[in-house]
Amino acid sequence: KSFEELGLSPDLLKGIFDMNFSKPSKIQERALPLLLREPPQNLIGQSQSGTGKTAAFALTMLSRVDFNLAKPQALCVAPTRELARQIMAVVNAMGKYTPVRTDYAIKTEMRVTEPLTAHIVVGTPGTMADYLKRRIIDPRTVKVLVLDEADNMLDQENLSEQCLKIKNFLSREHPTQIILFSATFPDRVRNFANKFAANANKIEL
Ligand code: AMP
Repeated sequence: KSFEELGLSPDLLKGIFDMNFSKPSKIQERALPLLLREPPQNLIGQSQSGTGKTAAFALTMLSRVDFNLAKPQALCVAPTRELARQIMAVVNAMGKYTPVRTDYAIKTEMRVTEPLTAHIVVGTPGTMADYLKRRIIDPRTVKVLVLDEADNMLDQENLSEQCLKIKNFLSREHPTQIILFSATFPDRVRNFANKFAANANKIEL
């Protein structure tokens, strides 16, 4: 299958073309049709880094946001700032030919007090939860939540707790599409994933 056949917008295809991706990776080919399906469905994906999973969820977030609405609509949380930055770079590169605006939810020197107007927000769990709690991110317009490297989140008790908080802020408002990726699924990660992304489709590579 080609990227064209996956139903991505022409603007996203241009971004992909710029990155010199000639065809979808295995995870992209399998995950994107599921992720873009209507009504939105949850996904639990088993995949290592290096497989192209970041592009798979970046393209999903970019496909699902309404660029005319100046509100956060897709959130992505990662266990480290470094990973959040890498994800952000992929989102911005893929979205180069779209009007997307992105913002970080990571701890900074300056306390953020104004509501975010970016379409996609990438960050770490504690700050993302704090932004939702303080309505820096309005939970009402968020329709996609991505959790990357879930196994690494669970290595730190506090991070998984923050992730559950984020989910609770969102699901109080309306159903949110939940996408969870992890490289490994020992029992405790599997239990967490099933709780976090209920009734999810599962993809293993
Ligand atoms: P990830 O698994 O998301 O960490 O991505 C691993 C690497 O694969 C990154 O350097 C991507 O730029 C690259 N990549 C992702 N998707 C594709 C693709 N369809 N074709 C070629 N390279 C890709």
